[in-house]
Amino acid sequence: MNQVKKLLRGGRVFLENGTWESCGVLLEEGRIAGLLPEKQEVPADILQIDCSGKRIAPGLIDTHVHGARGRNYMEGSAEAAAAISDFLIRGGTTSCLATTTSAGRADEAAALRGLREASMHPAKGQAEILGIHLEGPFINPRNRGSQAEENIRAASGPELEEIAEAAAGALKIVTLAPEMDGAAEAIDFFIRRGIKVSIGHTSATFAQAQAALHAGAGRGTHLFNAMPPIHHREPGAVLALLLDPSAFLEMTVDGHHLAPEIIQMVLKLAGPERCVLITDGVDVRGCGDGTFQRWEGTTVIVRDGQARTPKGSLAGSMLSLSDAVRNAVRLAKVPIGTAIRMASEIPARSVGVFDRKGSISQGKDADFVIFNEDLSVCMTIVRGDIAYRAAP
Ligand SMILES: [Zn+2]
Repeated sequence: MNQVKKLLRGGRVFLENGTWESCGVLLEEGRIAGLLPEKQEVPADILQIDCSGKRIAPGLIDTHVHGARGRNYMEGSAEAAAAISDFLIRGGTTSCLATTTSAGRADEAAALRGLREASMHPAKGQAEILGIHLEGPFINPRNRGSQAEENIRAASGPELEEIAEAAAGALKIVTLAPEMDGAAEAIDFFIRRGIKVSIGHTSATFAQAQAALHAGAGRGTHLFNAMPPIHHREPGAVLALLLDPSAFLEMTVDGHHLAPEIIQMVLKLAGPERCVLITDGVDVRGCGDGTFQRWEGTTVIVRDGQARTPKGSLAGSMLSLSDAVRNAVRLAKVPIGTAIRMASEIPARSVGVFDRKGSISQGKDADFVIFNEDLSVCMTIVRGDIAYRAAP
């Protein structure tokens, strides 16, 4: 419980209507209590936080993140979540979906149970786990990226029930390949339970992807990556997703996964309202260069800001979400406010939490990232608590 009222003062605040305004933001009991005119007298019982020369933005929301600092959400433990959070808050991320990778059934169920538990008890000053993004095992082995082939399988009724039971209400997104055996039943199973289905790690044809979208899938997982490129006679899942007016599109904007011109094309075709910046951040972030064994024994090589499998496939990113915002602005010439929305408002809308997160608005959770003018992170506030403050 936050007993002390706080006032973020002196900065430019990114409002829900997309404008920047010089005003104060009052925080009380972990929520946004209101906006105050800059010149207003401040009662002595309010702790003032000087944000002069800074940009005050809503906390960033990463809907696709696996780990950091050598820890992986697949461990399913509060300790792993705390270590990962320590990396996330430095990148302005105040909430996330803990994202799994394909695993054996017992490991998968154990991870889901642990992550459900972690999502139910948000720790003070840590990035909040809003729920779980299940990435695999119902994917196409040909498009598996860094996922272990032996852990990929067709969806079956008993396993779907097991997943739903282990994750309970915490499962928010399932990434699957619609062309695989059992996928149609799986899509139906998840949609009926209010869980979003995302098309990814797939070789689906345009028609197969479109059928999945019609069946209720509403998202594409790291668009363009782990799916075939657009071909003029077989445009595939990429174009089916781009042309569907309600599909959310994940993008990994780290300077390696997507050319800047592709990001510009997606924004032109789909508009920013459908674009979700993600990190797909992996467990070897924050560990320096080298060769690492991951939690399930696969090898990943980190060099020049990239994580790759021994065969050379990109194995997730080393990105933090504030870097993604800055890359979108610098590399793809996205306006700052638009880039921030793509890492806060749009991810919040995409997982149904915009009523409490994703913008600076009275009554919402007091989650903020306070940017320096160069879009590096100055401070991160989670539910009213200062979770991270950069050294001056
Ligand atoms: Zn991933």
